[in-house]
Amino acid sequence: MRIIVIGGGVGGLALAQGLRRAGVGEVAVYERDASAKGRMQGYRLRVSPDGERALREVLPKPLQDLVVASSNYRREGALAAYDEKLEPLWAPSFTDPRGDSPDKIDAVDRATLRRILLAGLDDVVHFGRRFTRFEQRGERVVAHFEDGATDEGDLLIAADGANSQVRAQLRPADAAVDMGVRGILARTPRAKAIEAGLPELLQDRFIYVIGGDGQHLGLMPMVFREDPQQASARLWPGLRFEPTADYYMSVFSVHKEQLGVPDEEFFAMTGEELRELALKRTAAWHPDLRGIFAHADAEEVYPVGLRTTVPVVPWETGRIVPLGDAVHTMPPTGGVGANTAMRDAAVLARELTRVERGEATLAEAVTVYQTEMVGYATEAVQMSLKIAKWSLQVDLAEGQTPSHVSSV
Ligand SMILES: Cc1cc2nc3c(=O)[nH]c(=O)nc-3n(C[C@H](O)[C@H](O)[C@H](O)COP(=O)(O)OP(=O)(O)OC[C@H]3O[C@@H](n4cnc5c(N)ncnc54)[C@H](O)[C@@H]3O)c2cc1C
Repeated sequence: MRIIVIGGGVGGLALAQGLRRAGVGEVAVYERDASAKGRMQGYRLRVSPDGERALREVLPKPLQDLVVASSNYRREGALAAYDEKLEPLWAPSFTDPRGDSPDKIDAVDRATLRRILLAGLDDVVHFGRRFTRFEQRGERVVAHFEDGATDEGDLLIAADGANSQVRAQLRPADAAVDMGVRGILARTPRAKAIEAGLPELLQDRFIYVIGGDGQHLGLMPMVFREDPQQASARLWPGLRFEPTADYYMSVFSVHKEQLGVPDEEFFAMTGEELRELALKRTAAWHPDLRGIFAHADAEEVYPVGLRTTVPVVPWETGRIVPLGDAVHTMPPTGGVGANTAMRDAAVLARELTRVERGEATLAEAVTVYQTEMVGYATEAVQMSLKIAKWSLQVDLAEGQTPSHVSSV
């Protein structure tokens, strides 16, 4: 079985790892980015119990240990909410089935995870290859790339994210819906923020600020348990990580109409302009909160738009199979998009293993995977939308359909 994976993001790479671990078929991953550095979609990823289980299922033990070693060092209290003047609103306690297990993966640095997911896949992942279209020839699928190259396989996996080109060709009506919320994503070095006086209560927890002015801020610490380069020397020598230090990821969110900046302008802004915009919009906020923007690295500030897939539907059972954001985009409010993509990877790898062993036909395996995926992905989207509705006062208007497609 030759399996072509379009997209070397979280989901595509997790699938390649799972297939490699199970010794299933011959895998080729095609990624448009020139290198492992990747696109900006957030710096820190919260890892849910389901996401952790999936990661452990697809990765060999030393790489699992490397994810643990380089994951976020979580101290106390899960989440605390404040208003824009830093008046406490509430601090709920959540029960995590993993408890306080010392090797629990609470959150990871996205770039670090991507490097770990690439480990051992040098002969599998092809960078700088932008997929343009596919063609079905009987039992085979041919993938075409921008540079004129082609590849042919038994299965084509659409793991090319929220703007999936594979989906655009096969199911153009399924594109994700714009939720009308715009975000400014920033990365602020932790040492700089603390030196500048970030109060202790904001230093180690997930902070959610609900502004009385309708604007919101999520602030998440990423404190490496161990430097990834150092941990890899011990656990999987030979991997190269970009030098990194502890940081805060922040997402400042506001309704599109309230932002007062047209999309064409907003999405063309430089990091410095976005940082200034956040500072301007929060002029009346507590200075300790504004410090997060003031000390952010200007070249690490990006615009984001919230989108969602409604509803999540299976694709025809055939040779083209969806995975991750390509089939279930969801707002980051639930912190489960990447976790769901990793779960897809684990389930699909498991099903394709059954095909390899002669326990199922390809059509049966794809049907089982899609049925399972649609079930848990629907729950994940609904949970993320519920939190978005509650926290950002955003809801999909009655009757809104995927024809409200945004290019954001
Ligand atoms: C601000 C923010 C914070 C988030 N935080 C979390 C979180 O804490 N936890 C969580 O679980 N999720 C989080 N998410 C969601 C998460 O980022 C996505 O759900 C996840 O990345 C989806 O994985 P994927 O593999 O499907 O797609 P992606 O990670 O988007 O990967 C798709 C890959 O395909 C490549 N590609 C695209 N088009 C082509 C093409 N034509 N040819 C070749 N390659 C192509 C892309 O370059 C990319 O590498 C967050 C999202 C945002 C925006």
